[in-house]
Amino acid sequence: MTQTQAARLMDGTALARRIVEDTARRAAELTDRTGTAPCLATVLVGEDPASVTYVRMKQNRCRKAGITSRHVALAATTTTDELVRTLRELSADPGVHGILLQHPVGDHIDERAAFEAIAPEKDVDGVTFASFATMSFGLPGFVSCTPGGIVRLLDEYGVDPAGKRAVVVGRSAILGKPVGMLLLARDATVTYCHSRTRDLSAAVREADIVVAAVGRPRLIRGQDIKPGAVVIDAGYNPGNVGDVDFDSAVERASLITPVPGGVGPMTIATLLEQTVTAAGRQLGV
Ligand code: NAP
Repeated sequence: MTQTQAARLMDGTALARRIVEDTARRAAELTDRTGTAPCLATVLVGEDPASVTYVRMKQNRCRKAGITSRHVALAATTTTDELVRTLRELSADPGVHGILLQHPVGDHIDERAAFEAIAPEKDVDGVTFASFATMSFGLPGFVSCTPGGIVRLLDEYGVDPAGKRAVVVGRSAILGKPVGMLLLARDATVTYCHSRTRDLSAAVREADIVVAAVGRPRLIRGQDIKPGAVVIDAGYNPGNVGDVDFDSAVERASLITPVPGGVGPMTIATLLEQTVTAAGRQLGV
């Protein structure tokens, strides 16, 4: 009789807690040595309730880690030019070490123009073209936070992407594309799937590492997971449901992230960590 062994869970909550503790230690040391606490500027356009909650959550987590935050609340009617000006001012302000523009910013704003107004050395959310390039080439710079968190989870669980077939489902600028580039920089053979992919199941069946970054509840089914594959579910859909059908995938994977408690907590941890790193570089420590 063959017996299936359920996958080991990749605990993002525990790893994120350790990263935040370490970040808080580094922030305190930096503040002691320079007399200046790391500072993250958060910029919010409009009052979308979900965005307000996200920004508040990030500010609270900053405070607990010894990072000060400066909040800039802009009216929903703010134009691209006004937003760009604000971001350039923050980029030039020596009292600000990291900048987070909460997005989406609203359809009337050119989001790319706004992102590009963030100085790369303060781009702790990893949204600029410059950050994408340094990340892709494996050079020093800041990574997009969720992809960066995913790679940290792989490291933590001893998964070396080199030589493995990685299938990334989703190609958004903040998640799918950058996570694929990070895996490529780690020598994985990367395939991107998206809404125009003809046979998603066939692609997923080939994968040693699957990253689901779609926003479609339970799109990836256990029957398509190669036995022993590593499954990273970045999806977060209403009702705490991921993009992977967890109950069937857990029976075939060797490692799998739960939703919630897998990828989610890693995003803010990476943001805080990169803010302290940015402050250290700017303060010359
Ligand atoms: P997005 O911008 O909407 O991108 C979704 C991607 O999925 C697109 O590339 C799209 O293809 C692709 N896609 C859509 N339907 C598909 C299908 N049936 N088969 C294959 N691919 C399909 O979403 P996102 O911002 O990347 O977010 C994706 C998920 O991750 C969401 O659930 C979001 O909540 C979650 N997320 C979590 C975190 C976190 O901190 N944990 C952070 C960010 C996002 P096209 O490019 O062809 O349209």
